[in-house]
This record gives sequence, structure tokens and C-alpha cells, in this order.
Amino acid sequence: MKARKHLGQNFLVDGNIIRKIIAAIGPRPGEHFVEIGPGRGALTVPLLAAGVRLDAIEIDTDLARELPQRIAAGLAANTSSSAETRHSTDSDRFRIHCANALQFDFRQLVSGNAMRLAANLPYNISTPLLFHLLDQGTAFSDLHVMLQKEVGDRMVSEPGNKVYGRLTIAIALRCSVERLFDIQPGSFRPAPKVESVMLRLKPHAQPLADDAVLARADQLVAQAFTMRRKRLSNGLRGLLTPAEIRSVDLDDGDRPEQLAPQAWLRLAALANPTTRLPE
Ligand code: SAM
Repeated sequence: MKARKHLGQNFLVDGNIIRKIIAAIGPRPGEHFVEIGPGRGALTVPLLAAGVRLDAIEIDTDLARELPQRIAAGLAANTSSSAETRHSTDSDRFRIHCANALQFDFRQLVSGNAMRLAANLPYNISTPLLFHLLDQGTAFSDLHVMLQKEVGDRMVSEPGNKVYGRLTIAIALRCSVERLFDIQPGSFRPAPKVESVMLRLKPHAQPLADDAVLARADQLVAQAFTMRRKRLSNGLRGLLTPAEIRSVDLDDGDRPEQLAPQAWLRLAALANPTTRLPE
């Protein structure tokens, strides 16, 4: 079956990279994983071989239908899996949900401990999908995701960097991000046009602020970054006054791209002065 471009289907075929990804994830027997877009099972098989329970969300009905067979064949051939892992049936530890991950309620899958997530994300929807996942932050203890390198660079950049912006701040307010390694186009079939990067995201154990303050921070950042090189007082006109900006120890003459994520939280909390921010 031909890869469906509109679903971002670039399948991992490089055994060394697959092993490197699995080693970085470090799955342990009995852990509960969610995988988005299992495709032909490149990550699904080694995860199951490590003895995890896994819920996979795949939008492509053909791939979803074929996956159990691919997994059975993959596990039978997998020399690193234990006899017990090889012989336990797919249905024991594996469930496939044929669904759109963008609309999927992941919290319904939680039973007991928070889940772990692994995904080679479809690049065309990776940003909205990440926010959908982080909105359900307490459902996941960590998320290992492969993304387009350029998007990964934006997520880990520092204030003042030319790619520091809305995405960097929105992500930093919700989780920590660790850049693991790059992956070249030749590791996939068909090869994508862009390089990829593997990231580890950990939702903050205690949210930095409540949902209303985070939403307000997103709003301030969205408006300010339409004019990233203008003074804050201009960028935030209509939302905050220069005096309000100065009231949280910021200079209203600074530019949006100079402000660290925590500073946006201080500005966002102005609308709700009872909110206590972490020191
Ligand atoms: N995990 C496989 C691998 O690494 O080879 C496939 C990765 S491929 C980049 C992305 C996968 O996500 C495809 O199987 C595609 O059909 C699936 N997909 C695309 N959009 C999706 C969506 N909205 N919800 C769930 N799965 C989706």
C-alpha cells in the first residue's frame, strides 16, 4: 500500500535509529504507553517486545486493520523479546483505536499511573497535536516525540534567539523539553524533505499556573509576537498598560523576544491578582 502523504506517512525503516529511539525511551515491563500513528509498527513492535501495555491511535483504517498481524509477525521475529512477551497475544497488552488523535480524549485511557507517550508525529499536525496532548498533561508522565527539526529548534530556543517565540513560550509554560538527537531523512520511507529531531517532554509536576492564567499568557504572547521587535508597551496595547507592565518589574521598552517564559506568566497573572506563582 502506498504511503499517504496527506497523513504525513513517512515510515521509519532504519533499525539503528529505531533501537536508539527505544533506548532513549527506556520502556519497562508493565508500563502503560500510548502511541500516536503506529503506522506499520516500527516503534510498536519493540515497545511491546519490552513488555509494555500499549494503546495505539491510528487514523488510517487500512493501517489500523493490518497492524495486529504486523505486530504478531514482528514479535515472533523479535529475538530480543522474552518467550513470555512473544507468546502473550496482542489483545492482552495491545489495543488499537482507529481515530483522529487531534480529537481523541486520552484521559479515558488512564487506569492507575500516568501513561507514557511515544510518537513519530505526523509533521503536518504536530503543533496542534502537542497542545492537545499537553492540555491533558496529567494523563502523561512523559512524551517522547519525533518532530520536524525546525519545530524542535523553536521549542528549545532561548530568549533573544530568532526562532524564540509563541511556540517556545507556550511549551515552556506546560513542560520541560530535552533535545535528544537528530534523525536524517534517509531513515524513513518515503524520505521526508526535512530533518527530524527526537525530543523528551515532561509535563510540569505542578502546573505553573491555573488554566485561566496560562490561556491569558497565550493571548498576551500571541498579540505581542505579531510585532516581536516592537516595544512591549506597543505590542501589548489594549491588553496591558505600560504601568501594569512595569508593576511586575519589567521594562515596557523591552521587546517581546527578550522576555523569558516566566515573565509572561507574571504579566498574565496581573488579570488575576489572587493567583500565586511559584518562586
Ligand atoms: N510510527 C510509524 C513509524 O515511525 O514508522 C509511522 C509514523 S508516520 C510519520 C505518522 C503516522 O501517523 C501514520 O501512520 C499516519 O497514518 C498517522 N496519522 C496521521 N494523522 C493522524 C491523526 N490525526 N491521528 C492519528 N494518526 C495519524
